[in-house]
Amino acid sequence: MQAQVKYLIIGQGLVGSWMCYQLDKAGISYKIVNDETIQSASSVSSGVINPVTGRRIVQTWMIETILPYAVKAYTELQEKLNIHIIQEAPVILLHPSEQMKESFNYRMTHENIYLIQQDPTAWTPYFNAQYGVGGISECYWLDVNKMLATWKAFLISNDHYINAHFNMNEVVLLENKVQWKNITAEKIIFCDGIASMQNPYFKTLPFAPNKGEALIIKVPGLPNQNIYKNNISIIPWKDDLFWVGSNYEWTFSDSLPTSSFKEKMVESLEQFLKLPYEIVDHIAGIRPTNTQRRPFVGVHPSQAQLAICNGMGTKGCSLAPYFTAQLLEHLEKGAMLDPEASIERFSSILKK
Ligand SMILES: Cc1cc2nc3c(=O)[nH]c(=O)nc-3n(C[C@H](O)[C@H](O)[C@H](O)COP(=O)(O)OP(=O)(O)OC[C@H]3O[C@@H](n4cnc5c(N)ncnc54)[C@H](O)[C@@H]3O)c2cc1C
Repeated sequence: MQAQVKYLIIGQGLVGSWMCYQLDKAGISYKIVNDETIQSASSVSSGVINPVTGRRIVQTWMIETILPYAVKAYTELQEKLNIHIIQEAPVILLHPSEQMKESFNYRMTHENIYLIQQDPTAWTPYFNAQYGVGGISECYWLDVNKMLATWKAFLISNDHYINAHFNMNEVVLLENKVQWKNITAEKIIFCDGIASMQNPYFKTLPFAPNKGEALIIKVPGLPNQNIYKNNISIIPWKDDLFWVGSNYEWTFSDSLPTSSFKEKMVESLEQFLKLPYEIVDHIAGIRPTNTQRRPFVGVHPSQAQLAICNGMGTKGCSLAPYFTAQLLEHLEKGAMLDPEASIERFSSILKK
């Protein structure tokens, strides 16, 4: 049967899910194609929204705008789906070195909004923390897998979802529309993570994919309302499990878990965590990072039927709700895209 929609979305990771949510909210017709055999970065993400970043503990890009937007959006989504997916979870910083402690103390007194003091004795039953303890407020933890699964069920029950592999070779580009199999759409929006690196229209964008791994562990007795950070992070996962990671590998041959990562994490856990634990899983994925650390959002400069929302890098949880909404405003109302995120900045290389 022939189907006609305004937008065809490719990929149901965080970005594709949010793209569909924005379309749904606006009452605009769409279908989404997702290849369930391809592992998404979203499914291994620890689901953290953290307003500060890096060893220098500086504020994350656009966080004053992005954070309230994301919290409101995830809260709206959880109400719509009647599930619990977002939780405020302060970061307990168990300083890994004297230098990190000094960095934290410096930031506490210089342009600090999110850093807080912590009672160090509260954490000594659980962790070795010889360099002291600090904290970050206004952090959030998301149950990304619950969100993706429940949103997929919604998409299926409303006849939006197609479990299939999308291949650009099967697309017929017509004037002002596209045809893919039995679907005609005005535009395709690529939300397919690192797969866009193979897309003939978007492959020249400066993607620089980054592999990350995590152990999933069981730690009886460790409070699961916080995120714990030392050289590694221990983050609530689901039920009584915790996510432990990560690494940032720029050179890799596949997306599989490695024994070297596992050994490194075990070594860190032995030094850092005082409670007994059990490893129950080891996961890995590839982040759609890029050399500029800014999203790729917008319409192809010479193929107006093709748009992209990608390049969320290490921050897909916080950036996806905001930039999918911005892209839709741009497509529907001609609103300006953030110049730092707009792919207009790559116009000349995209036209090649
Ligand atoms: C270990 C790790 C930890 C992370 N932790 C965090 C964190 O705590 N906080 C945070 O904000 N970010 C985190 N990230 C980054 C975050 O996961 C990404 O920014 C985000 O998931 C990117 O979402 P996406 O939708 O662009 O891509 P993806 O999640 O990769 O989704 C792409 C989708 O496209 C589909 N697809 C691909 N090709 C095709 C095709 N040809 N046909 C049909 N479907 C296709 C795939 O099946 C997939 O579902 C982490 C990443 C990793 C790897």
